Amino acid sequence: MEGNRSKPLLRVPSPSLYDFTFQELTDWVVDQGQPPYRARQVFRSLYRNPPVRIPEMSDLPKEFRKLLSDSFPQEGPASVQTQRSSDGTVKHLSRLSDGQFLETVLIPSGTRQTCSEPSRRTVCVSTQVGCAYSCAFCASGQLGLKRDLTAGEIVQQILLVQRVTNVVFMGMGEPLANYENLLKAIRILNAPEGLKIGARRITISTVGLVPMIERLAKENLQVELSVSLHAPNDELRGKLMPVNRKYPLSELIPAAKAYSRATKRMITFEYILIDGVNDGEGEARQLRKLLQGLLCKVNLIPCHPTPGTPWKHPPLSRMISFEKLLRLKGIPCTLRRSRGLDIEGACGQLRLRYNQ
Ligand code: SAH
Repeated sequence: MEGNRSKPLLRVPSPSLYDFTFQELTDWVVDQGQPPYRARQVFRSLYRNPPVRIPEMSDLPKEFRKLLSDSFPQEGPASVQTQRSSDGTVKHLSRLSDGQFLETVLIPSGTRQTCSEPSRRTVCVSTQVGCAYSCAFCASGQLGLKRDLTAGEIVQQILLVQRVTNVVFMGMGEPLANYENLLKAIRILNAPEGLKIGARRITISTVGLVPMIERLAKENLQVELSVSLHAPNDELRGKLMPVNRKYPLSELIPAAKAYSRATKRMITFEYILIDGVNDGEGEARQLRKLLQGLLCKVNLIPCHPTPGTPWKHPPLSRMISFEKLLRLKGIPCTLRRSRGLDIEGACGQLRLRYNQ
């Protein structure tokens, strides 16, 4: 099974309260001989923004606080550095309990200030330390996979940031290769007793792990799915993304279609435009053909510079022509503005600078 491929390579950190769904916490509280309403009290404190630490949970009896601290001594990720981009993007670097580092990026959208559509605050969350998939253009894969993040470590990244409206699993790692922890984290984020972030405000981005997309379709969760496509044919995609040799387009596209049918959600395809590599008229036409009849949209992303690769994005005029060619056949398409480039917080730039 694909999910086993990314077995943690290092010791799994001891459990934290952030690993618990509300139901699991209730079961644990009852097992300790406490009334079930204590679970609600604890959960509320954990997901207050900023979160309340165990010693400050003043609505709990002292002995119960001691029991909590003794049972869950782990502190969780500690923020060690915050960098702000001139465009408002903020990158947080945290140290995990085993000394690994992870990055989380807040991307505010300053443009939607009306009452009906308040401005978004999207947090871009990592699911693994490093990545096993070695996409040729991406910095995260350059050092390989270090380990999976626990559900609690995934969830706690959202708490680094206040007033989150949307969550995208587009940070370091391949979310669907850490399937169990990812799903658990989503259930914790959804919980009405906690952060109440609806599934439709959550996006999972994947390199295209077909069996896991099929599994996700059966979960009865309405999360958005984003597929990193980056090439319209197997030959080119296989060069840019080695995973394509295992799951070619003839399997990936039907899996995306089935996901869209099962969840009634529109699929997003991410397509990095790389100068002279995948940005020609021929590729635009192939892409159009490939996606015909699919409920989808395409996000065109200018390729960001990554250390160790020669690639850059095409001139703006070519990116606009590519976008027009797709639109011509009615494929909804946006040319994304790059955010956070000056702090290396843009897509593909989250790198394990500290994890060498
Ligand atoms: N592993 C998942 C989640 C990471 S998402 C996935 O690949 O979808 C990271 C997003 O940033 C993906 O769409 C990825 O393709 C994109 N990306 C990676 N390197 C990039 C680069 N150099 N320039 C622009 N986008 C890049």
